[in-house]
Amino acid sequence: MTLSEEQITDYERNSNTAAGLCAGCARVLDDDEVHVCGQCSKEFTRRGADESAKGSKV
Ligand SMILES: [Zn+2]
Repeated sequence: MTLSEEQITDYERNSNTAAGLCAGCARVLDDDEVHVCGQCSKEFTRRGADESAKGSKV
């Protein structure tokens, strides 16, 4: 599970990620999860997509 560099920059500010925990819910990450767990990644991706859609309409 990966995120865009822009998203990762935000999540790296959360100390949870440094400890190998999800930035969203502090769950211990699996080997294929980076910065956030699969569930939170879906949420973040959806939110990012919404923001991008808003911006492109301007
Ligand atoms: Zn999570």
